[in-house]
Amino acid sequence: MLLKDKLFIGGQWIAASGRELIDVHNAGNGEVMGRIPAGGEKDVDAAVRAARAAFETWAGTAAAARAEFLQKISDGLKARADELAKTIAQEVGMPLKLAGRIQAGLPIANFANYARLVREFQWEQKVGNSLVVREPVGVVAAITPWNYPLHQITLKLAPALGAGCTVVLKPSEVAPFNAFILAEVIEQAGLPKGVFNLVTGFGASAGEALVKHPGVDMISFTGSTRAGKRISELAAQGVKRVALELGGKSASVILDDADLPTAVKSTVNGCYLNSGQTCTALTRMLVPASKYDEAAKIAAEVARGFTVGDPLGESTKLGPLSSQAQLERVRTYIKKGVAEGAELVAGGAEPPEGVPQGGYYVRPTVFGRVKNSMTIAQEEIFGPVLAIIPYQDEEEAVRIANDSVYGLAGAVWSKDEARAQRVARRMRAGQIDINGGAFNMNAPFGGFKQSGHGREAGVYGLEEFLEYKSLQLKG
Ligand code: NAD
Repeated sequence: MLLKDKLFIGGQWIAASGRELIDVHNAGNGEVMGRIPAGGEKDVDAAVRAARAAFETWAGTAAAARAEFLQKISDGLKARADELAKTIAQEVGMPLKLAGRIQAGLPIANFANYARLVREFQWEQKVGNSLVVREPVGVVAAITPWNYPLHQITLKLAPALGAGCTVVLKPSEVAPFNAFILAEVIEQAGLPKGVFNLVTGFGASAGEALVKHPGVDMISFTGSTRAGKRISELAAQGVKRVALELGGKSASVILDDADLPTAVKSTVNGCYLNSGQTCTALTRMLVPASKYDEAAKIAAEVARGFTVGDPLGESTKLGPLSSQAQLERVRTYIKKGVAEGAELVAGGAEPPEGVPQGGYYVRPTVFGRVKNSMTIAQEEIFGPVLAIIPYQDEEEAVRIANDSVYGLAGAVWSKDEARAQRVARRMRAGQIDINGGAFNMNAPFGGFKQSGHGREAGVYGLEEFLEYKSLQLKG
């Protein structure tokens, strides 16, 4: 049992102001795996004050020195990679091997990458008679979700620290233990006190107190569109800068000349990654109507190959969902898909067989002959549920792909790369994979429309935390 009763504020582990603790559940069996403090307004205030007090000195520290700290944090995380992978596999439900590569591996790589980017960044530029300098935006509130918990923290923390900002982190209460490991690593790295602070708690209390605090200059949020809207409203009162990484309903457009088996297989994999709890999940698969039967057959076969089981199990390909609430939500959507008349090609709302008692397991599900107006094609389900949508021609495919309030990601498949690019350029989303193009940690990541605004990753992510200042020179 992991018991955490202290918060990391001003370089010290301090008891939370209240006594309330939050239960954290193991996704694999539903048991309470540990508890964390339910921080409140007082804790947030102490953390923001500590961050404010540390800001000027940290902002004035040489970029190379800040980069060195980022590298030290990467090294510290690497030393605890196995523990991180196991912790997150249990918090979130991702199969252990995958969690090692993604949930622990990406943060380690990203901290090291930002060490390099911060060293190489051009901090000032002459424009006519002006010297344009880049300065940190100030105290940053980082509020993060549970699905890729440490990765999402890293995409805010590494560039914010590199930029010279100080940070108060409010991680997800569903998957918080990885953030405690990170705080211990940061403490060991010797980061000056107050530069990084950790306050755990619920969104409505700790989260909102942080967003409203007058000592916060910027809120960088990843999570649901619902919470993103609320945060924007609150932040507007203080005219704070807000970066939002929200939900998605991404389309994989399979054109008529594509290699169908490869495209379908890859789309199902892209939909089921992390049991569908991925903001960029390819949840809508658009196929030419003439190829619908073949595509549905392949998708059903691929889905059946996703062995459901405990995240720590050797043969598990699809872990559980992260929480009871998530399980109920996903099952409700599956029932809705059936009720709205979609064809159930694989899976369904009944619990899968042969899985550990008490865990949040759901069957890998494929719906066929889905109309884009159906709820399962419009709303983010955040579970392993694929919707196959037949289309008549390329024009209709683009129209359907863009007929969504979201615009986070997508994919296009065609033997003709130029044609695929043409279609990709017409899609209103922030990141489109062409013929299975690989994830690139230096490419900008973020959404159009209600998927949010602002970009994370690479140098684009660093710039989010910087202000411009122009010094007009006399001559
Ligand atoms: P969530 O919005 O419920 O919670 C995210 C975080 O915000 C948590 O730390 C939570 O405590 C906090 N929070 C909730 N309400 C708040 C409020 N009113 N004020 C301040 N903080 C508040 O989201 P979740 O369920 O943890 O995560 C799932 C969502 O995140 C999905 O919609 C998914 O698409 C999205 N997501 C987006 C990206 C992206 O980069 N675009 C990445 C991962 C997840």
